[in-house]
Amino acid sequence: MNENSEELIRLLRSLAMDLHWSWNHATDKLWHQLDPELWEATHNPLVVLQTVSSQRIEGLLEDPIAVALIRELSETQRQQALAPAWFQHEYAGTEPLSVAYFSMEYMLSEALPIYSGGLGNVSGDLLKTASDLGVPLVGVGLLYQQGYSRQVLEADGTQHYLAPFNDPGQLPVTPLRTGDGEWLRVELALPGASLWLRTWRVQVGRTELLLLDSNDPANLPVYRGLSSRLYDDDPGRRLAQQMILGIGGWRLLQALGKTPQVCHLNEGHSAFVVLERAADFMQRHGCSFAAAWTATRGGNVFTTHTATGAGFDRFPRALLEKYFSGYCAERPGISFTELLALGQASDGSTGDTFSTAWLALRGSAQVNGVSRLHAAVSRSLFAPLFPRWPLDEIPIGHVTNGVHMPTWDSPEADRLWTEACGKDRWKYGLEKVSKDIQQLPDERLWSFRNEKSRRFCQELNDSYGRQLAIRGAEAQGPPPFDPALPTLGFARRFAGYKRPGLLLTDPGRLRRLLLHPGRPVQLVLAGKSHPSDAAAQEVIRAWISFINGQGVQHRAVFLGDYDMRITGMLVQGVDLWINTPRRPWEACGTSGMKVLVNGGLHLSELDGWWDEAYREDCGWTFGDRLDFASDEEHDRHDAQRLYDLLENEIIPLFYQRDAQNLPTGWIGKMRNSMALLTPTYSSVRALQEYVRGYYQPAAERFRHRSAEAARVADEIAREMAGMQRRWPGLRFGELRVIAASGALTFIVEVFLNGIPPRELHVELYADRGAACEALQQPMLPDPEAPCADGYYCYRCTVAEDRPAANFTPRLRPVYSRQVTSLESPLILWHH
Ligand SMILES: *Cc1c(COP(=O)(O)O)cnc(C)c1O
Repeated sequence: MNENSEELIRLLRSLAMDLHWSWNHATDKLWHQLDPELWEATHNPLVVLQTVSSQRIEGLLEDPIAVALIRELSETQRQQALAPAWFQHEYAGTEPLSVAYFSMEYMLSEALPIYSGGLGNVSGDLLKTASDLGVPLVGVGLLYQQGYSRQVLEADGTQHYLAPFNDPGQLPVTPLRTGDGEWLRVELALPGASLWLRTWRVQVGRTELLLLDSNDPANLPVYRGLSSRLYDDDPGRRLAQQMILGIGGWRLLQALGKTPQVCHLNEGHSAFVVLERAADFMQRHGCSFAAAWTATRGGNVFTTHTATGAGFDRFPRALLEKYFSGYCAERPGISFTELLALGQASDGSTGDTFSTAWLALRGSAQVNGVSRLHAAVSRSLFAPLFPRWPLDEIPIGHVTNGVHMPTWDSPEADRLWTEACGKDRWKYGLEKVSKDIQQLPDERLWSFRNEKSRRFCQELNDSYGRQLAIRGAEAQGPPPFDPALPTLGFARRFAGYKRPGLLLTDPGRLRRLLLHPGRPVQLVLAGKSHPSDAAAQEVIRAWISFINGQGVQHRAVFLGDYDMRITGMLVQGVDLWINTPRRPWEACGTSGMKVLVNGGLHLSELDGWWDEAYREDCGWTFGDRLDFASDEEHDRHDAQRLYDLLENEIIPLFYQRDAQNLPTGWIGKMRNSMALLTPTYSSVRALQEYVRGYYQPAAERFRHRSAEAARVADEIAREMAGMQRRWPGLRFGELRVIAASGALTFIVEVFLNGIPPRELHVELYADRGAACEALQQPMLPDPEAPCADGYYCYRCTVAEDRPAANFTPRLRPVYSRQVTSLESPLILWHH
């Protein structure tokens, strides 16, 4: 082998190690040329490169066209790492930004199976988008020894699990080395011994993902397996994993010399980073823990993904003590009692447990939910931390998730969008994209639909035929799925709240729908249930027994082994995606967003993202935001609506043709959905919202507070502590109301307990009424009004639009520096 080919092999390897190939398909040709069969089977460049013989590689390198392509792609890779993108244009000349993103899972590609579901989808798509937009963000996560669990189905639908081994040698990960070539390892004190964490790096286009794992031979056997499995059921291992992510993750960033201003906590699992970041800051700057906590909190952003209280991790106090007493001793500044209090509600509602979500919220200056509806749900879930706050005012915002369109679009969709909007459509603002798609004529959209449907049916028939053979099901020939028929899709984790059996409520009705003589329909399903969820496994069996027992094998299939690839195939091919969660349990949901770019339409309960996205001209909904006495009643009602819609509106619309045999009504909805929803539910919009509304303000706060050895943070911390100390002594006195000519004047006495008036905000509050908005009207000091000793008088006048008894004065602190309301939940009411 000569020098030239050594260099080419190095370039080829660097292309294979960069997960950019998972959404930019420019390198596909090379892997296909090396081994077409293996490439088709795995779509994993690294596996192809490692498996083929050196003769094959040499063969490739003798092809001048391939060599030119390798050089060209490597050059593009090099240039793209430096080229200015959306972020560099948008924030030219501003202070540099650096964000560290913490998440327990990342769904980037089948080649790196370190995910479980929706949460990993969000973080994976976000990293890819950061690469496209040039947002300076680095991901932090764990490298699990066992990958995404695989599902195997028996002929009757009984589910088995396989947990394949993640061999780092075959994954697109590279060990991180120190300057002198040693493997970079991070140390974490656990009970009785140190835990050594090995460190890895993943290239995701221009973005980097850093991973940690515990499988270091230097570890005690009991600790070596800590990072074996994602979401371990054992509470001790679960807690240790969260320490690895938060504390180990921060130490890794420090060891690499990275100094992010912003830490983005994706879900409560990464909460411990707020402790380690503050402790580290305190040591570096020689300030108090309170100042360090205040400075770093200013730069922490927390995204909550849970829609039910039971979804938050709660650790027993004794377990926390076991794992953290060593940490608290080693990291002076915070005692174990103080740490415990950060994860408990002051009203005692958490009992003797510690909630990482509570810690994440207390350690952040901004928090958001992942859809508008989910933010409202989250305000209730976190209400114990905001005693006596009106729910609407609890400061939890929302950034609705989006999906990375280049990952989820089909080759046909990519061609169509490129034709209409150009190659760089997902790299800048999205305003123009809508207009361009609106221009597409009916014929073009319909030929696009038919093209993708043909490929999809072919693929489906192939892979289903294989699966049946593996299941040992009776030979029934390949299911002749027909591209001319509308295809409905339902694929997701089979969790109870997603109601995977809703469509099966009335099997006879579903059968008639599928076999309708004039308007037949085909249905494709896929899904996994948790190994310990017997009820959900029963639903899988029920589906398979329906398919086999009702003579609908040619119209309905259940694909096993639901994963990223199956999702990809389905969202690219189906005409209608069905989503049936029990409102309001779906925090956001992303699978439905993946069909948008591919011209599929969405039919869903008004839950998660669809609650804000639904428009009549873009899709369908069977929810009507009603409350029900029981789940059974709710499900019955929804199933009825679902069948009615399919039978009377949706399927007929697909079959309603004009003189050219075009379903113009259906095509109109496709066009609207593609033009109006795709840009909004793309991860480009979501990441831009994070940058503008969260990362930039957080970075600014952190810089401001941490300058000059955290002088400002120290002032804020002292001021807040002083307020906290004097607050219990504040009280309201007499309240007088004067009614005159349609207006109400309120005069209230306040005992200030030595707090200067400028440090308090007095306002009159009224709840939202039937015919009027909530009201918050400032009350101003009135030096003229007669007042009891030591009291101050405040007054204001409002329109008499509701009874006087509906108004009540309240007090909030005012600080001389900017503090977010999340950071200071003090409030005092007159009554
Ligand atoms: C998109 C996706 C999800 C998320 O699906 P939802 O049902 O919307 O929560 C989960 N798992 C995989 C493999 C996916 O591709």
